[in-house]
Amino acid sequence: MKALDELTFDNRFARLGDAFSTHVLPEPLDEPRLVVASKAAMALLDLDPAVAETSVFAELFGGHKLWAEAEPRAMVYSGHQFGGYTPQLGDGRGLLLGEVYNEAGEHWDLHLKGAGMTPYSRMGDGRAVLRSSIREFLASEALHALGIPTSRALCVIGSSTPVWREKQERGAMVLRLAHSHIRFGHFEYFYYTKKPEQQAELAEHVLNLHYPECREQPEPYLAMFREIVERNAEMIAKWQAYGFCHGVMNTDNMSILGITFDFGPFAFLDDFDAHFICNHSDHEGRYSFSNQVPIGQWNLSALAQALTPFISVDALKEALGLYLPLYQAHYLDLMRRRLGLTTAEDADQQLVERLLKLMQNSGVDYTLFLRHLGDEPAALAVARLRDDFADLAGFDAWAEQYKARVARDGDYTQEQRRERMHAVNPLYILRNYLAQNAIAAAESGDYSEVRRLHDVLTRPFEEQAGMEQYAQRPPDWGKHLEISCSS
Ligand code: AMP
Ligand code: MG
Repeated sequence: MKALDELTFDNRFARLGDAFSTHVLPEPLDEPRLVVASKAAMALLDLDPAVAETSVFAELFGGHKLWAEAEPRAMVYSGHQFGGYTPQLGDGRGLLLGEVYNEAGEHWDLHLKGAGMTPYSRMGDGRAVLRSSIREFLASEALHALGIPTSRALCVIGSSTPVWREKQERGAMVLRLAHSHIRFGHFEYFYYTKKPEQQAELAEHVLNLHYPECREQPEPYLAMFREIVERNAEMIAKWQAYGFCHGVMNTDNMSILGITFDFGPFAFLDDFDAHFICNHSDHEGRYSFSNQVPIGQWNLSALAQALTPFISVDALKEALGLYLPLYQAHYLDLMRRRLGLTTAEDADQQLVERLLKLMQNSGVDYTLFLRHLGDEPAALAVARLRDDFADLAGFDAWAEQYKARVARDGDYTQEQRRERMHAVNPLYILRNYLAQNAIAAAESGDYSEVRRLHDVLTRPFEEQAGMEQYAQRPPDWGKHLEISCSS
């Protein structure tokens, strides 16, 4: 266990120099205070959880203090936003404080979001509000607990600093952890500004630090791209299987590590709705729930374009071709497990699709349906869940098909079935209204609800005594919360 001043820094990205990032100091928040900290994330840095309660913790992650070895940098990148290319973006309100390595030898970027203005702030104020910082914190830790690759969040620090959005709010900072903060947009920036040498330097950096095994391949850059395709296919399959909608899949929000990154107006589905658009500013539904799958491929094509100086177009196309089949295989595998199936049959895809079609517009809670499907033997469970469906005849036909499929699947007890299904079907997810309740309390100075919700979400598969209220469908007011891009 380490104290805060015992972190070991090795700032590899900062060493790439000024073409890649700019030295900027964090702008401190007034009266910084701990809102919430993740013990699990602290453990990644070998930090003693007790240090979260110290005033120096709030000062460090509220921008007042800095380790002598930290080298805070704002990174430059660009990216395709809603399909159009924006030539220059960058860390407009976040700073890479430095890279820390833990006792296991893992490197973690410490990224402080909401740290003030940088050369890339454009029209923004460099700040993040408490509301969006809490949402990012809860989402990162909740996705991780579900087994979905994601950046992590160490803590949220609140303050009395006024920040203007639609109304006056308070500034906050979230300390994000990831093995890398390099985005698709980093490669796009050097490609479109025609800086091949720096682009090659960036590619070498990523290859050496994050894809060293690709060095062994005849074409290391191609092997790295293939790996990025594979990781994205798997990540998006998990989003779709668990009903997670990212909301702003711009290429500057896509990580080269294939982790969920840059949380804004995200949402988990309550009622199943393939056409769900969680981002109130996404008028065309470009990033609707079901569009995440093709958009994943679109984004990878944008990255491929930026890699054309290093890899032949034919090879890039071939690698891109891996995306859909891999996505489908991962998705189907997860959905089979969510349905409690241990074997594979060709018609399983259709079984899943039919179920989702029935759920669509029937007001069926996606998470709770799948959870309760495992509570009891298949025949009893479907009989109990049937009332939620508008098309009863359609559901009955599906239920017959499902029961027959379960019977063919294998010889196991209901207890085994329940255990297996509950291990992949969460009881608790980060519903928008739950986040909203926690935010409202935090905005009035009570952080207990954020902390409790965080705690519940770190064990989403485990029924927790006294926490029934977190495993309910949303009340009417909580069903259609509009989450804007403003953060
Ligand atoms: P996002 O939509 O959060 O992914 O941000 C898109 C771009 O806008 C990134 O370059 C951000 O750094 C920048 N940005 C977002 N909000 C702010 C803000 N309040 N101040 C400065 N830059 C911002
Ligand atoms: Mg972003």
